Amino acid sequence: MSSSGPKASLNFIEEIVEEDLRTGRWDGRVHTRFPPEPNGYLHIGHAKSILLNWGLARRHGGQFNLRFDDTNPVKEEQEYVDSIIQDVQWLGADWEGRLFFASDYFDQMCQWAIELIEKGKAYVCDLTSEQVSAMRGAPTRPGQESPYRNRSVEENLDLFRRMRAGEFPDGARTLRAKIDMASPNLNLRDPIMYRILHTPHHRTGDRWCIYPMYDWAHGLEDSIEGITHSICTLEFENHRPLYDWFIDAINEGRPEPIHHPRQIEFARLALTHTVMSKRRLLELVREHHVRGWDDPRMPTIAGLRRRGHTPEAIREFCQRIGVAKANSTVDIAQLEDCVREDLNRRAPRRMAVLRPLRVVLTNYPEGQTEQLEAVNNPENPDAGSRPVPFSRVLYIERDDFREVPPPKFHRLSPGKEVRLRCAYFVTCQEAVRDAAGEIIELRCTYDPATRGGSAPDGRKVKATIHWVSAEHAVQAEVRLFDHLFRAADPSGVPEGGDWRQSLNPHSLETIGDARLEPGLAAAGAGERFQFERLGYFCADLDTSPQRPVFNRIVTLRDTWAKIERRS
Ligand code: ATP
Ligand code: MG
Repeated sequence: MSSSGPKASLNFIEEIVEEDLRTGRWDGRVHTRFPPEPNGYLHIGHAKSILLNWGLARRHGGQFNLRFDDTNPVKEEQEYVDSIIQDVQWLGADWEGRLFFASDYFDQMCQWAIELIEKGKAYVCDLTSEQVSAMRGAPTRPGQESPYRNRSVEENLDLFRRMRAGEFPDGARTLRAKIDMASPNLNLRDPIMYRILHTPHHRTGDRWCIYPMYDWAHGLEDSIEGITHSICTLEFENHRPLYDWFIDAINEGRPEPIHHPRQIEFARLALTHTVMSKRRLLELVREHHVRGWDDPRMPTIAGLRRRGHTPEAIREFCQRIGVAKANSTVDIAQLEDCVREDLNRRAPRRMAVLRPLRVVLTNYPEGQTEQLEAVNNPENPDAGSRPVPFSRVLYIERDDFREVPPPKFHRLSPGKEVRLRCAYFVTCQEAVRDAAGEIIELRCTYDPATRGGSAPDGRKVKATIHWVSAEHAVQAEVRLFDHLFRAADPSGVPEGGDWRQSLNPHSLETIGDARLEPGLAAAGAGERFQFERLGYFCADLDTSPQRPVFNRIVTLRDTWAKIERRS
């Protein structure tokens, strides 16, 4: 499948994989992985990485692993492990049972560390982490060698054994690779391999009090699992020489060398109006700027899911943005377009009134109800239709009435006739005000000859508006969202500024008194609909038949572009 048939143009990683397959570099194997650290929830950037890795394996008949890079017990939790598993599954990436944990490799890693000590390639260092940093030097200035660098192999073996046995307090000693304190690549200046940390681990409990550093562990995890293409983001490009050094050092003098994966770096996804580092997302949660990791305004997979995004739309989005070697920022409107296109095909149409204005049809018989037929999805004839109750008192959208209509306003105003979607033509006769002068009701007449929404005499109206029957409608809460950050680049704050500065105080608008057509009371959490003329909506986790709650996923069109140009 890999080298035959017509294909779309390949991205640079696909080209590398195809080249490796052609040259038989890995005996025809393609084995990728997604290696999250369980220290937060996954975000849409991770989705890009997941789908890239899984997609490569799938396209080439290869394998894809899900592996937790759980080497730092201070920040990692089971809650994150569970959420990550759920999110990867929801995206549709299948690891076919190959779920692994770096912590399962701790014994093996420790064994290799001992081998490096024995080869004189690693030493126990008693400097504090501050001293290590201070002696590291700068890119243009060599670092200083640690005074402990030339300890004997025996002393190093003994100290490392005692580090592991728990004889020393946190931070007292480290194991460092003995590489080159003058290397222009700072990652090669005797990096730390192990640190002492008397902290229980979410999987290994208190079995360990030394933990491997990410840079020591990461390449070894890939090696152990036989990963062929170790795909990561650009910031790891200058860690690659270190990963190579570690594996070469282990392999030196070894009759059966351990597997040496090929690392390939690509540009991470950044989105406008969004922050995308786990650290910042955690701050948003901890400081209660949002309601949790799955707040529908968050760029987390859990947030996107709760808001109502679909895995199909996210996959399409990741396909469209492609894979590049240079960082750039993608307009969040592109993601919204993808979900709009997906839901336009699939989401049943319903009527909902967000800001109700009462309408009384003065010539409609009191106490009468009739069932009108409404088409479920004009894009999908198989979706059929449903009955919608109609009666003398209705609600329409406040915005659909103007007492003094501005030019081109064709909706309801005194004396004007409009169509009620799938119902009748109605004409506004009068607006009723309360004591404060606010319009509280419209008195209209309907034309019984226009049932279904067309006039036998052929007369036309310029607008069709949506409505619900007051007596039958269910009252609901509807949550509307705006960007979480006003700035397109919230991280690009001026010197001394704070990225929180551009948090949008109006990112959530809660409407407590929306009225929905009655069938929507039964919607289960996660069910998606198009509310006619208002956008795509999803029943929230908080929904119940007594109190339906809906999230707006997106409006029907991208209005942001216009608004931003104006302001
Ligand atoms: P963050 O940088 O967002 O705080 P992280 O990169 O440290 O998170 P990891 O758990 O280490 O989170 O990430 C797992 C994988 O996801 C890594 O291979 C990483 O390169 C990739 N990844 C993380 N962020 C992005 C992104 N914005 N776009 C594409 N891939 C990403
Ligand atoms: Mg990372």
